[in-house]
Amino acid sequence: MRPRGESHAESRCRMNAEKKPTLVWSEDGQIGCTLPTHAPYAWSDTWSSERWRPMTLSDRVQFEAEVGRAPECESCAAMARQEARS
Ligand SMILES: [Zn+2]
Repeated sequence: MRPRGESHAESRCRMNAEKKPTLVWSEDGQIGCTLPTHAPYAWSDTWSSERWRPMTLSDRVQFEAEVGRAPECESCAAMARQEARS
């Protein structure tokens, strides 16, 4: 019986669930994230041919200044809109 060990594992699990996926974007401005299917698999042929790369903090600041809203993953945003509708 090691209840302390169990609670430690539990809190680590919760931390992982709260961790946001990293935003990535392509050269032509498509935005995705590191969740499966939200962007080409990192370092795949599509990833490199469309020039996807992780968004840095300065990328986000520049995007928000140009577009007027914070960058968000297009797939995650679509899912959020569907949830809001149902
Ligand atoms: Zn996403």
